[in-house]
Amino acid sequence: MVLDYQEESNVKLIPTKIMCDKCEDIIDVLDFDEEAVHFEHTFGFGSKNDGTLIRFDLCESCLFDLLDNGNVNYELIDTTPY
Ligand SMILES: [Zn+2]
Repeated sequence: MVLDYQEESNVKLIPTKIMCDKCEDIIDVLDFDEEAVHFEHTFGFGSKNDGTLIRFDLCESCLFDLLDNGNVNYELIDTTPY
């Protein structure tokens, strides 16, 4: 019978609140009303930003504002199984 647990260093931390880096709204990830999108990319060899990591989080509204106002062509694909 286990009576107690000790947290070890390899425990994965899962974010529960995320701040949108555009509008600064706080998104409660466990609430399911709105999602946040995490973007992270490291530029590769030969790029103007070689070796630089860029990352940010956007709420769902700001993501589509950015895409629509920036005239970004994107696909929306319904992946729900029903
Ligand atoms: Zn936002």
